[in-house]
Amino acid sequence: QLLASQSIPTPQTPYVIYTQRLSEVYRKKILVTGGAGFVGSHLVDRLMSEGHEVVVLDNFFTGRKANVEHWLHHPNFSLVRHDVIQPILLEVDQIYHLACPASPPHYQYNPVKTIKTSTMGTINMLGLAKRVKARILLASTSEIYGDPTVHPQPESYWGNVNTIGPRACYDEGKRVAETMMYAYKMQNDVEIRVARIFNTFGPRMHPNDGRVVSNFIIQSLQNKDITIYGDGSQTRSFQYVDDLVSGLIKLMNGNYDQPVNIGNPDEYSIKEFATKIRGMCESQSEIKFLPKVADDPTQRKADIRTAKREIDWEPMVTVDEGLKKTIEYFQREVEAAGGEIVP
Ligand code: NAD
Ligand code: UDP
Repeated sequence: QLLASQSIPTPQTPYVIYTQRLSEVYRKKILVTGGAGFVGSHLVDRLMSEGHEVVVLDNFFTGRKANVEHWLHHPNFSLVRHDVIQPILLEVDQIYHLACPASPPHYQYNPVKTIKTSTMGTINMLGLAKRVKARILLASTSEIYGDPTVHPQPESYWGNVNTIGPRACYDEGKRVAETMMYAYKMQNDVEIRVARIFNTFGPRMHPNDGRVVSNFIIQSLQNKDITIYGDGSQTRSFQYVDDLVSGLIKLMNGNYDQPVNIGNPDEYSIKEFATKIRGMCESQSEIKFLPKVADDPTQRKADIRTAKREIDWEPMVTVDEGLKKTIEYFQREVEAAGGEIVP
């Protein structure tokens, strides 16, 4: 049965989302850390529309209240300004632990804080999961493979990470977060799930996010130079955020507790990707090559055989369909900002 939600259309969510009426037996109380961020807010939309009770913890470092504004008055929803490096007492059935800046400029802005978020934050959420016997899912990352020497990357690959480079605060933070997940499973029987997320894009990416998809779209929409770091031969595979959300929910509710890659294997060189976005935006932008950034992985592509086999998941949205929706979103953001955004 569908109930009209109390959501109010906002620039971030210019449509009404309906919530399902779930019986007590199926309704779960679900914590989403980092739920006001890009991925977290889409996950919140899906969980709310399924009729669950959702609590969001966020310190708003990179997240925005506007991303969850449409749920603020819904009885099933709570938003708590809280930093996960501090412990918290809550009663929940499941925890999606996403809190952590994800874009290189954001996580490198305060590397010590990024390390604290991944280490102390994950310990606190694991402690909570242990106390209330909740199942916990960690949003890990393809960055744990570092600059991979195996391509595409299966979960069995141990990675190639520089422990003291500029990306280490994020990569090593997530690596030790994974280690903590398995230590709590072995020692305390905590039910864990680990998603290794590959590059994801979609509406609600922060305009100043600094990642490649938002930068290239914003630059193209404003006919400004498209900035490629290095010669653009490095590759990434890109997934649309709705596919990621489906994967996270399937992983959480399935039986498989080893790490699972969640990504779209559709791989592009960054140069190809710049040309593609410029074409889709019908832009006059020039492509500008800037110096290569330190420790930038040269190749990355998701091997998703485990996800297909263990949780029956694979991406459904093509990169082109996803980009179309994301370009429309950034067009609205540029208009709302009075016609100019510096990415
Ligand atoms: P994001 O920066 O949009 O969201 C992160 C959220 O966490 C923000 O709302 C931020 O305010 C919050 N946060 C950060 N530090 C916090 C702290 N100490 N306490 C409480 N809240 C805190 O990033 P995203 O793209 O939505 O990524 C979400 C998660 O997914 C991250 O854990 C990230 O590592 C992981 N991930 C994302 C991608 C991707 O391509 N988007 C790829 C791999 C992994
Ligand atoms: N990149 C680029 N120009 C930009 C932003 C990023 O050439 O304006 C490159 C970056 O150097 C990397 C790739 O695009 O090789 C993906 O970068 P992003 O920050 O999106 O994610 P990463 O996979 O590196 O974490």
